[in-house]
This record gives sequence, structure tokens and C-alpha cells, in this order.
Amino acid sequence: MKEQTKLIRTQAERTPYREHSVPLYLTSSFIFDDAEQSRAIFAEEMQGNVYSRYSNPNTTEFIEKVCDMEGAEDGLAFASGMAAVFASFAALLKSGDHIVSFRSIFGSTHQLLTQFFPRWGITSTYIDASQPELWEAAIRPETKMIFLETPSNPGLELVDLELLAKLKEKYPHIIINVDNCFATPYLQKPIQFGADLVSHSATKYMDGQGRVLGGVVVGRRELIKDMMFFIRHTGPAMSAFNAWLLSKSLETLPLRMDRHCSNALKVAEMLEAHPEIEQVRYPFLPSHPQYELARRQMKQGGGVVSFIVKGGFDRAKRFLDALNMILITSNLADSRSIVTHPASTTHSKLTDEERARVGIYPGSIRISVGLEDINDILADLETALANSK
Ligand SMILES: *Cc1c(COP(=O)(O)O)cnc(C)c1O
Repeated sequence: MKEQTKLIRTQAERTPYREHSVPLYLTSSFIFDDAEQSRAIFAEEMQGNVYSRYSNPNTTEFIEKVCDMEGAEDGLAFASGMAAVFASFAALLKSGDHIVSFRSIFGSTHQLLTQFFPRWGITSTYIDASQPELWEAAIRPETKMIFLETPSNPGLELVDLELLAKLKEKYPHIIINVDNCFATPYLQKPIQFGADLVSHSATKYMDGQGRVLGGVVVGRRELIKDMMFFIRHTGPAMSAFNAWLLSKSLETLPLRMDRHCSNALKVAEMLEAHPEIEQVRYPFLPSHPQYELARRQMKQGGGVVSFIVKGGFDRAKRFLDALNMILITSNLADSRSIVTHPASTTHSKLTDEERARVGIYPGSIRISVGLEDINDILADLETALANSK
């Protein structure tokens, strides 16, 4: 079966009630036929659900779909994207280990690496994504993991996955861990390039409608097994309800991504030609400094566009206020278009210089382009640009 078909046809085993759509398994535990079966399942001689902190038919179905899309052997579902990212570090690393990552990673991941892990003896080094040769230079004997996102948020910098595959050949013991949330497995499959683990905030495009939080990590079986031990005893499990909803949402992920991407490209092209705009960043615009790389490793450019409006900080805020349809909220990857002004919100605690290093300027705006009719999106942006001078 092809990817789109599998996303629709993968389903938890049908019950004696002959339901068509998958039921919601709201149960904390599962019963055993007899004492011998419960012994065998506990001893892991037999597979079976025990307790929803470990597994549940709805989460299993959701994980199976993500594994299929990413080309992964196994996976685990989490209550949020951050629970997934945290577990992928905490379950696999120990005091004395070192992580190589880059400056533009997601804000909360940055806090983990700089505020929490040093307390537990796990250190990290950031490189500049624009200088790919630095990945190898940052590797030390104690480096156990390379962690990255591509494209990054909100600067839309890319990391060359093929280059990391070459590093993996040279340093096979280093775990390559990719947060693939912005691209989704429909647009980019890091495991094909040699990644060991792929993590996602399912809150974003997997849900795609701004309703629930969720996270997932998929990858090499032995790593997932080690992570399973960790999550069984620490409890960051995804709820059955969220898994049920997310699994349904995955049925339409490719369709939604096609529209997010085509709308985003049109927004990027309109902004690039607009006299009130200083600069536009979108992976599939030929003006993106890594355009060739984007074409090589992504199927389409994604749903997020970053741009700099003329007039700096105050103009950016006036522009947001002048929008009619598009609302200001810090989520992204929704069916509704969303704008944020990173310099006054998500990145307000950084200095101008720190912001510039991750591609954020006073007039930078991030738009997560939704699924509305493209003409309505363009009209709202154009009117707000005209009314905010
Ligand atoms: C949103 C996001 C996360 C965190 O996910 P939550 O579901 O909000 O916990 C991690 N990484 C990236 C790239 C994200 O965009």
C-alpha cells in the first residue's frame, strides 16, 4: 500500500462489535484471560497491553502510522512534543555525555540543554548551522548525540541531512536525533539519511487543527526499547483520546501539507515582491541561501514563512494589529493562518545580537500559513501592510 492509503487503512484490530471507525479505548488497564497469561505478558514472553502508561490500542495505532511514514522500526507516543524530546535525551544519556546541537533549536529544547542537563552532568555545544563543517569540529570523545531541527523555527535555516549521514559513517556510536516537526514525514524523512531517532511535536501538523498536545519519537528498535524502560517508569504517556484524535488527523496529513505548502509558497512570493518587505525566508524560494539543499532534502517548502517588515519593531506590531482575519497566537501548523512577532514574544529575553544569530530581527514576523482560500490570506496581509505604514 502507498503512504496515503496506509495512513487511512492502518487501524487497531476490529472488536466483536464490527465497528468501522476505530473506537476510543478509554481504559487505564487491560484484563488477562488467566494468571498464566498475565505472568507471560509481564515477563515479556508475550505481547499485550497491560496499563495505558505503557501502551494502549489508540497510541499503538498512532505510532504505527508515524513509523510507516518515517520508515522507522518502532516508536513511542508522549503527552507533548517536549515530553518526547526530553525522553529522547534523558533515557539515552548519562552524566559525562556530550551533545552537539545548533543555536536555532526550539526554545524549550534550548532550556533543557542549557538549564537542566548541565545540573546532571550532561553538556552540549552549539554550532552555527550556516557553517556545516563545524558539526564535525564540535565532536568530542564523549559526544553521544547530535540533535537538530530542519528547517529551524522561526529562522527557517536548514541542516544538511546528507552531511550528517556521512558523519554517522565515521562516528557510528553517536545517536543522530532529528526534530522533524516543521517538515513532517510527508515532506522529509531523516531516517533515509541515516538518522537514528526522529522526534515530533504532534501538536503541530499531525493534529493540524490546534486542538491537542502530543509527541512521538520513532527510530531504531534498540534505542526505542531503552526509551520504553524510561517512559514506563516516568509516565509521560500520550492519552488515548489524543492518540485517537491524532491518528484520525494523520489520515489527511499529506492532503493538508500539500495545501499548506502551496499557500505558503504563494504568500512568500507575494511578500518578496512587496515594497514594504525587507526580506523573506522560505525554503522553496530561490532567494533562500540554502534553496538547493531544500530542493534536495524536502519534497516541498513547508507551511511557515518568515519575513522582515520595513520599519522595525513598532511597525511589526502595528502590522499584526492591522490584520483582520489572521490572529496572533503562538501555536503554528493550524488550519488557520497564524502570525507571531518573535522579537516581542518567544525571543524577547534575548539580546539583539543573540536574536540576530538565530535569524530574528526587530521587524521579523513568522506566519504559519493555514488552509484558508489563498486569496483571503493574501488580501488580509496586503491590507494590513497598507494600513500599518
Ligand atoms: C512546538 C515544538 C516543540 C514542542 O512541542 P509541544 O507539543 O509544544 O510540547 C518541539 N520542537 C519544535 C520544533 C516545535 O515546533
